[in-house]
Amino acid sequence: MDDLDFASRAVYYEPEASTQSISYPIYMSANYQYADDIYDQIVDGARKEVNIYSRCGNPSEYKLEEHVAQLAGATACLATASGMAAISHALLGLLKAGDHIVADLTTYSSTHEFFDHRIQDFGIEVTFVDASDIAAVEAAITDRTRVLYVETIANPTMKIAPLRALADLAHSRGIVVFCDNTFASPAVCRPHEHGVDVVLESATKFMGGHNDAVGGVITLRSDILPADWLEQVRWNTLTKLGGALSPFNAWLLLRGLQTLPLRVERQTQNALALAEWLEKQPQVRKVFYPGLPSHPQHELTQRQFDLPGAMLAFSLDTEDQAVRVLKGLKLGSFAASLGGVRTVTQVPGTMAFLDIPPAEREQMGITDGMIRVSVGIESARDIIRDFEQAMR
Ligand code: PLP
Repeated sequence: MDDLDFASRAVYYEPEASTQSISYPIYMSANYQYADDIYDQIVDGARKEVNIYSRCGNPSEYKLEEHVAQLAGATACLATASGMAAISHALLGLLKAGDHIVADLTTYSSTHEFFDHRIQDFGIEVTFVDASDIAAVEAAITDRTRVLYVETIANPTMKIAPLRALADLAHSRGIVVFCDNTFASPAVCRPHEHGVDVVLESATKFMGGHNDAVGGVITLRSDILPADWLEQVRWNTLTKLGGALSPFNAWLLLRGLQTLPLRVERQTQNALALAEWLEKQPQVRKVFYPGLPSHPQHELTQRQFDLPGAMLAFSLDTEDQAVRVLKGLKLGSFAASLGGVRTVTQVPGTMAFLDIPPAEREQMGITDGMIRVSVGIESARDIIRDFEQAMR
């Protein structure tokens, strides 16, 4: 069973030992009894080996963590209440006042705002760069730089981070590489295979896949950080800041993961068909999709990814045109979030990135008429027909 393909590993996990339940149970309990010698074990320092209180961890969460770690090619995983909890807990679990982060300019809006304001209030400095430019990253590094932060596929411009080159540079300076893999998912890219130390993911998106559960995961595979670093984050940061995942959401996410490869394969086929169709439409100024030869990093995509993925963007002339098209969709939803079975669209400039000043948005490459599409598993013909009638 050691050499199973990714699709088989997504489906298979060991049944629960005491009942042989194939669907792993939801342990919907906030606390656990100090029975037999459990009290003595806890006093002696046992933590994950016993169950104490759900904010510190619970069996449903541990099963999800085990499954995510093996799919991501990681040595450890820590599940959190949301993708933002994964990002904030991982950063605050490592950094202290005086440290410096080099971050890509184009990251998810809440991440960017966290970097731009809140984290700096704690004395952690951030320099923004275009992380696809290795020389610019190198120039931004100081002797206080502790973290290099990128997204595998940047939201929403679909810029790809050259992970191996970034990791080689960072590691030569003792810097830890953090990568948000939300837009890709492990079915598209496993950043640990390209040298990334810490991978963050909003499990709300492709991992869960059904728009019904919010959650996040942090995975680790690193020669720089200690092997027990995520357990330190669990006990020293997560249990103190409180971003624990609910057992029910852990169960939903574990169930969603079993169909991840199947969903993403179909979503990618649909995304490619839609991107090719969009490129032929006269109203469309530009299509941003890593699977198209017109994408500036198409060759890097082929080297680094198993598939080009389900996320694409395209631009019309104005915000008004973009909003009218999205309101005109019948099958696709005009909504926040992404990665689920349904096609979901948004205007990033005035939705996810509304609180980012226009000049910064422009630097990130986000224009007012830009539309982001998370392509679903509906039929490609119906998705295209829906955009055709809405654009008409
Ligand atoms: N990272 C990216 C790239 C995202 O798009 C999002 C949410 O949209 C997040 C992180 C945050 O995830 P969550 O909403 O689960 O907190």
